[in-house]
Amino acid sequence: MARDYYEVLGVPRNASQEEIKKAYRRLARRYHPDANPGDPEAERRFKEINEAYQVLSDPEKRARYDQFGHAGVGAGGGPGTGPAHAGGPAGSPGFDGFGDFAGFDLGEIFDAFFGGGPRAGRRAAPSRGADLEVEMSLSLEEAARGGSRELEIERPEACPECRGTGAEGGRLYACEQCGGTGQVRSARQTPFGQFVTVQTCPRCGGMGRLAAAACTRCGGRGRVMRRRTIELHVPAGVEDGMRLRLRGEGEPGRHGGPPGDLYVRVRIRPHPRFRREGDDIVDEVTIGIAQAALGARLQVPTLDGEEELIIPPGTQPGHVIRLKGKGMPRLRHGGRGDHVVRVRVEVPRRLNDRERELLLELARLRGEPVVEERSFFKRVKDAFNF
Ligand SMILES: [Zn+2]
Ligand SMILES: [Zn+2]
Repeated sequence: MARDYYEVLGVPRNASQEEIKKAYRRLARRYHPDANPGDPEAERRFKEINEAYQVLSDPEKRARYDQFGHAGVGAGGGPGTGPAHAGGPAGSPGFDGFGDFAGFDLGEIFDAFFGGGPRAGRRAAPSRGADLEVEMSLSLEEAARGGSRELEIERPEACPECRGTGAEGGRLYACEQCGGTGQVRSARQTPFGQFVTVQTCPRCGGMGRLAAAACTRCGGRGRVMRRRTIELHVPAGVEDGMRLRLRGEGEPGRHGGPPGDLYVRVRIRPHPRFRREGDDIVDEVTIGIAQAALGARLQVPTLDGEEELIIPPGTQPGHVIRLKGKGMPRLRHGGRGDHVVRVRVEVPRRLNDRERELLLELARLRGEPVVEERSFFKRVKDAFNF
């Protein structure tokens, strides 16, 4: 059976949060594994102290513990031993377990209590690789189609010769200054007790290992630039300026950390004819006055190739015709936008004799007064000099 948490921290059952915190601070320093290397009893005590503190520092958990004992916080008494388990699964919700506490760094404990006081040096921690960003240019048609594309990039990768260690042949030896731990420590007495200052080893930079000789391929840097062909999926309907993320395709991590991500920024080249407005494709056609008046069937280009456009009789200039579902694929909602055609009506600038005759006849039929002699325009032209 686990020891009573109040007993573990050496505080009375009615101790204030402040007293509990103080007691924990004192005990955690005394039993921290960093201060007691290779002492399993200290490690056990340290875990026990952390376990007690995690419960007693949380008013809710403390109340459950006071009422039900260890069973109330899903610890110590083993699974299914108390009435409190009826409220939740064994192990009790919200309780994080203790496994992580042995890994607590003394510096973190100091940070937590002294607001970032003597920040201890740490062994070179695994760090995530940097993200990379490249641009990819697409035509409007390619953006509409989407699908798989290949992209050639150049990026730093772990040197294959030394497997990222920077050491010739990957041969490393333990740093003699820190004994391979990557940290050097010194103890000093303060009013709070003994402070152990831990610093990153200046010789190995926290790696704990040193190269016998620098790798000739990467010059000891552990990484080399490599050209790679990356395959990526372009979502149909992708927009200009969007970034596509490829997880783990960025720079390699350091000290065993995960790689960064690769972001591909999409640039869509201007189309010679179409304009994109959201999910719609906007285009223009020019028709003659006879087509506008009589109606027509035209072939117009769309993202899907030629489509028939029906000009109804009596179409006015500026009229807009929508070809439903012939625009860009909708990235988020599915389906497609429209192909939108604005109709321009061109009035003929020159007429041959026959055309002129027909239009005059039309004007007479419709009772539209017009100028009938050509010579009149000749005189106007001369007068205005155009
Ligand atoms: Zn070292
Ligand atoms: Zn190398």
